[in-house]
Amino acid sequence: RGDFNSKIDYVFKIVLIGDSAVGKSQLLARYARNEFSMDSKATIGVEFQTRTLEIDHKIVKAQIWDTAGQERYRAVTSAYYRGAMGAMLVYDITKRQSFDHVARWLDELRSHADKNIVIMLIGNKSDLGTLRAVPVEDAKEFAQMENLFFMETSALEATNVEPAFLNILTEIYRVVS
Ligand code: GDP
Ligand code: MG
Repeated sequence: RGDFNSKIDYVFKIVLIGDSAVGKSQLLARYARNEFSMDSKATIGVEFQTRTLEIDHKIVKAQIWDTAGQERYRAVTSAYYRGAMGAMLVYDITKRQSFDHVARWLDELRSHADKNIVIMLIGNKSDLGTLRAVPVEDAKEFAQMENLFFMETSALEATNVEPAFLNILTEIYRVVS
C-alpha cells in the first residue's frame, strides 16, 4: 500500500536562529506553506514545520524549527539545537545590529550543535534595498571567513527562499550520504 511516510529516506532537522524580527518565521511560512504575513504574531507557538522533497532520487523530509519568540535572554535551549543537521542564521539587511549579532549566534550555535552542522547565513528583506544597512560584500566576507554558505532572501517577495532551503538541504544530504 502506498503509505507515503514509509517512503521517507531521510529526515533533516534545520533550526532557524537570529535576532527577533529579522523574518525567521516568515521565511519558514514562505517555504513550508508559500504564505507570508505582515503580522509577525501569525506563527507564534509553532514548534516546527515540514516539507518533503526529492534530492538525488531520495525522499527527504525537512523538519524546520522556529524559535517562536525565544530569541532574547539566551532562552534558546540546547533542546532546540539537539539533532540539528543544519542552521539558518538570519539577519535583516536593513538592521545593522542584527548583522553585528551574527557572531554571537554563531558562538552559541557552535557551543550547542553538532560539529558537522551545515550553517547558512541569510540576509533577509532584500526587497528593502533602499533601506539597506548591511553591504552584501560585508556579509560575503564574513561568511567566507567563517565557512558559511550565504544568500540574501526576501520572504515577502519569495526571492531566493526556495534556493536557500534547497542549498542547505543538499549540503546536509552530502554530509550524510
Ligand atoms: P522573526 O521574529 O525573526 O520570526 O521575524 P518575523 O518573521 O516575525 O518577521 C518580522 C517582521 O518582518 C514581520 O512584520 C514580517 O512581516 C516582516 N518581514 C519578514 N520577512 C520580510 C521580508 O522579506 N521583507 C519585508 N519587507 N518584511 C519582512
Ligand atoms: Mg518568529
